[in-house]
Amino acid sequence: MHITMIKKRLLNGDPCPKCAQTEEMLRRRDLWQRIDEVIWAIEGESDSPGAVMGSRHGVDRAPFFVVRDDSGHETVFVSALQLIRAHLSDAPAADPSEAKSLEPPEDLSAVAEDLSQRDPSEILRWGLDRYGDRCALRFDAGLDVVLIDMATRLGLAVSIFAIDTGRLRPETHRFLDTVRDHFGVVIELHLPDAAAVGDLVRRKGTNSFLRDGHAECCALRRVAPQQRALAGFLAWVSGERNDQRLVGSAPLAVVSRDAEFDSEKGSLVRLNPLANWTRERTWDYIRDRQLPVNELHAEGFVAIGCQPCTRATRDDQPERDGLWWWERSDSSSQTKPAGDGI
Ligand code: SF4
Repeated sequence: MHITMIKKRLLNGDPCPKCAQTEEMLRRRDLWQRIDEVIWAIEGESDSPGAVMGSRHGVDRAPFFVVRDDSGHETVFVSALQLIRAHLSDAPAADPSEAKSLEPPEDLSAVAEDLSQRDPSEILRWGLDRYGDRCALRFDAGLDVVLIDMATRLGLAVSIFAIDTGRLRPETHRFLDTVRDHFGVVIELHLPDAAAVGDLVRRKGTNSFLRDGHAECCALRRVAPQQRALAGFLAWVSGERNDQRLVGSAPLAVVSRDAEFDSEKGSLVRLNPLANWTRERTWDYIRDRQLPVNELHAEGFVAIGCQPCTRATRDDQPERDGLWWWERSDSSSQTKPAGDGI
């Protein structure tokens, strides 16, 4: 196997910041020596070796990697994390003794207390260092894009997944693609069980949540797919914040045991690195780093979710007013949604 890294050199002679950051991350993880060759794409020079390589493989960004196997077959990776997962991770797959050593600390509340004043990036690092490739990150296609940015900057691989309930807005699907491209990450989409949804629709119609409450539909379209997505993982990362929760809800700790999505052994850990950030603080991070955002935010959506169950809200409304509002007596309006959709 031969691994080539294609880097970009800017007009001023410096490597592009993302290439430098990627090299630093590979060095930090002791993987730099596994890169056999570096080829440069020079800014503005379409005939430079790296630019030619990019055009041959249809890649218009840097860095990227080309892996040639012994038969001469070439595979392109636009993400260093994908390359690591595919070819550079020598970590043995789940072995029982490793799983035992990764069991959650007995006193997670002490860990949560210790981490509660830390920056979200440090909380994320704690989880990814401790659980490695057995820690997954759920991306809700909202402001939690900051977690993907933080994970990428830390240079620690994380499995990212999203739940496609089958009723998401098209803007959210577009944003998932934008985030994939922007960070060069894989986002595994997990779908509901078609037979279970079909059965519910046959019995109660497409919008039973308007009559019976959202729990039954959510159990099939959101909870069950996430339980399947987390099978085999020991921890997962959520972008939920305390300022999104209903008044009177128990405060969200930065680390806790998760019973909701644990379909196996009762040892799943949930990390909430953004628990103590406000919406404004999260937006500041997004603006400072010019991260991509879901276009629904510009239309007034704070809660990002299923089309029939989310709506735009005003600045003076609590975030929860944008989700399942017709079910709550304290909401400013109980008008039910039209329930269009599939
Ligand atoms: Fe169903 Fe609404 Fe829950 Fe989506 S948010 S799974 S449409 S009840």
